[in-house]
Amino acid sequence: MTNSEDTQIRDAIAKWLERDVRPKARELEKKDEYPEAMVEQMKTFGLFGATIPPEYGGLGLPAATYAGIVAQISEVWMSLTGIFNSHLIMAAAVARFGTEAQKREFLPKFASGEVRGGLALTEPDCGTDLQAIRTRAVRDGDHYVINGTKTWISNGIKGSCFALLVKTDPAAQPRHKGMSLFLAEKGKGFRVSKKLEKLGYKGIDSAELVFEDFRVPADRLIGGEEGRGFQHAVGGLELGRINVAARGVGVANAALKDAVAYSQVRKTFGKPICEHQAIQLKLGEMATRCEAARLLVESAARAYDAGERCDMEAGMAKYFASEAALENSIEAVRIHGGYGYSTEFNVERYYRDAPLMCIGEGTNEMQRIIIARQLIARNPA
Ligand SMILES: Cc1cc2nc3c(=O)[nH]c(=O)nc-3n(C[C@H](O)[C@H](O)[C@H](O)COP(=O)(O)OP(=O)(O)OC[C@H]3O[C@@H](n4cnc5c(N)ncnc54)[C@H](O)[C@@H]3O)c2cc1C
Repeated sequence: MTNSEDTQIRDAIAKWLERDVRPKARELEKKDEYPEAMVEQMKTFGLFGATIPPEYGGLGLPAATYAGIVAQISEVWMSLTGIFNSHLIMAAAVARFGTEAQKREFLPKFASGEVRGGLALTEPDCGTDLQAIRTRAVRDGDHYVINGTKTWISNGIKGSCFALLVKTDPAAQPRHKGMSLFLAEKGKGFRVSKKLEKLGYKGIDSAELVFEDFRVPADRLIGGEEGRGFQHAVGGLELGRINVAARGVGVANAALKDAVAYSQVRKTFGKPICEHQAIQLKLGEMATRCEAARLLVESAARAYDAGERCDMEAGMAKYFASEAALENSIEAVRIHGGYGYSTEFNVERYYRDAPLMCIGEGTNEMQRIIIARQLIARNPA
């Protein structure tokens, strides 16, 4: 992609955000209503195929451009990015590890947004320790029969196809050798058991999914070989972490911009509050966090695009940018005083949305552990 193409797509998205998203985001968020019209518009931008290779109908954007778009959209309404982020991680598993037949069958439909979905890894009793999952797939002729429950699945209600992590050999040691990843399309035996209510991240559906004797054709096993599912699922996590970090940059920036604007119009003791040093200290810290978070995301995305190992870099970006979003959002609430607690201003939404980025795609506790392990591995004494 050339610089001018990059600028063109960014400009078109910026106009759409101001014209169609910003005026409606607060109302849809309040009602926790799925943004159908915005999803249709995202399809026309090609966002459901943003990182899918062009030979399968996608835009094939580099991670750096994609992260920039994710940050840009998150600055207006972070939930929108979840609708295509986890969909694209499912697509990446097919693009990187699928058979040629799977790529030809699924990637063009994913890229157009005709078939949308996400990633179904987490279960009611395990998220971080994914190797402890209990959803089971048993081979039966040219099908597998799947039983189990997945929870917290983004796009679980509106989506129709999911990269589903299961155990094909629960006795395998090490445990990951008994895990496989399937493309599961909704049908008999695959149902949504409940919509999950959340603190923030509204508009996008999060659901519990139940599989009861769900029969999936054997050719939906990604890559066609059992026992590779854990690697396929975690193989997309570097890009997933860069995505989440970019969302953090967007929310941190939004909080800063609202705080900068409000602090110039709100007066106390005869002057705008931005002239009080206590407020200036906050703004200075918030702006520095935004800049540092953006640079970490860009650096991780550049390493990813260059094909370099970047688990430590993606982990640092994810950890720092999501914490920046959380810290900036609470500071923006404080700077708005009582109005910060009102649903008439956006800062309370940033404060409800930000913690998700500290949890999803590997909690921030785990990110610090990953960073430390890599640090030691890369610097042997
Ligand atoms: C809104 C939302 C959307 C989501 N979307 C999806 C989705 O689309 N698909 C999907 O599969 N999942 C999804 N998730 C689930 C998410 O990935 C998990 O919640 C996350 O991985 C944490 O898992 P857990 O909730 O089971 O927490 P646990 O694993 O039970 O962790 C609880 C706490 O213990 C800490 N902890 C755990 N193990 C260790 C350790 N070894 N060392 C130090 N600390 C540790 C964790 O950091 C955390 O603080 C979503 C979650 C939310 C809230």
